[in-house]
Amino acid sequence: MRTAGWVVLNTLMVSGSLLGQDKGATPQLKSFTVIRAGMLIDGRSDGPRHDQVIVIRGNLIDSVSDAASTKIPQGATVIDLSKETVLPGLIDSHTHIFLQGEEPAEGGYDANILKYPLSLRAARATVAVRRALEQGFTVLRDVETEGAGYGDVGIKEAIEGGFIPGPRLRVATRAISTTGGYPLEGYAPELEMPKGVQIIDGPIEARKAAREQLDHGADWIKVYMTHRSWVGKNGELASQPTLTLEELKAIVDETHGWGKKVACHAYGGIGLQRALDGGCDSIEHGLQISDAQIAQMVKQGTWYCPTISVYYTDWGPPDTPQGQRDRLRASAHEESFKKALKAGVKIVFGTDMGGIPWTEPIAQEFPRMVDLGMSPLEAIRSATSRAAEMLDMSGQVGVVAPGAYADIVAVPVDPLKDIKELGDVQFVMKDGKVFKAAGQPN
Ligand SMILES: [Zn+2]
Repeated sequence: MRTAGWVVLNTLMVSGSLLGQDKGATPQLKSFTVIRAGMLIDGRSDGPRHDQVIVIRGNLIDSVSDAASTKIPQGATVIDLSKETVLPGLIDSHTHIFLQGEEPAEGGYDANILKYPLSLRAARATVAVRRALEQGFTVLRDVETEGAGYGDVGIKEAIEGGFIPGPRLRVATRAISTTGGYPLEGYAPELEMPKGVQIIDGPIEARKAAREQLDHGADWIKVYMTHRSWVGKNGELASQPTLTLEELKAIVDETHGWGKKVACHAYGGIGLQRALDGGCDSIEHGLQISDAQIAQMVKQGTWYCPTISVYYTDWGPPDTPQGQRDRLRASAHEESFKKALKAGVKIVFGTDMGGIPWTEPIAQEFPRMVDLGMSPLEAIRSATSRAAEMLDMSGQVGVVAPGAYADIVAVPVDPLKDIKELGDVQFVMKDGKVFKAAGQPN
């Protein structure tokens, strides 16, 4: 029934917006939608504005202005959010729509690849993207399918074709690591096991893998520069480096040539250093980043997508090597985040949803960032205009301003006073169409 409700609502909105877009036809007033915003956090400005009117034509924002001086177009559909706080659609820059939380009781990570038909994984991915949109996330950078091949390209096409609801996707497809650098692991050596990524050895294979993935629709290339982690001899967080500098440079050179970017999973140490020296565009996780590495990130303009929340789940018992490792990951990460924030590293909001079950709230990452010293406004920007900049979508998404896509959300209580309010998104518009509104089915 919920699905049926969405289809009806959506069909109405589609036909309404098409009225003004017929080829050669004079724009009709019915194509206008107007949102009255009690408070507007536009994603870019230094502070909120009150009593704003957002005029939307088709799928784009036409104007944003003070209510007192704005004449609402005759015949426009008016959406009254005058008691709410209105924001741009949110952006999660690190998700896995093809993962489901990896419950050990359900077979953990390996079951995805060994037991689940790809159709089941794709079906669950459609639920994941819907969940994201319901929570106000209108853009996801999805950083690899974990053995589901180019499934993310298909989900993206399904959303863009209007077959299923979901955010705008920027996808990384298969991701890249080296022999010994990614699961499935721990099986008899006689068995040729499938892997959760594309395995390469040597710069030639590295470049070829990037070419293949870009050719098949990757918007980003994702590279694993470290594998696993443990407590090192000196109490540091150790991890195994994977790609050599030459291998990474081949991938970065190829990807930049296509006008695209490279995201590097890197926990710390040699692997993170190679990621920076190899010219990667974004460091994912960055659990233990040295002062020199932070300075290098600032100098090179490297993005930092920390994904804090996921390192607080499933800790082992404190008296086990795994439990000690888990606690060190969280404490080192907090320190790295604080140092990066202070140094002015460009930080984007990312969660690793998928590693976290999609049934959990995506917005849980906001209070983590604010607790570690980021201002609520800066945390919102990290999930709006800052992320848009990283995604080369500035002005299109992550902002409520003329010319941007009409991706707009609202919450009942001011999130600058309590950032947790971003977990209570009650209105979602994507591409000028209302997907969710209080009191309406979706
Ligand atoms: Zn991830």
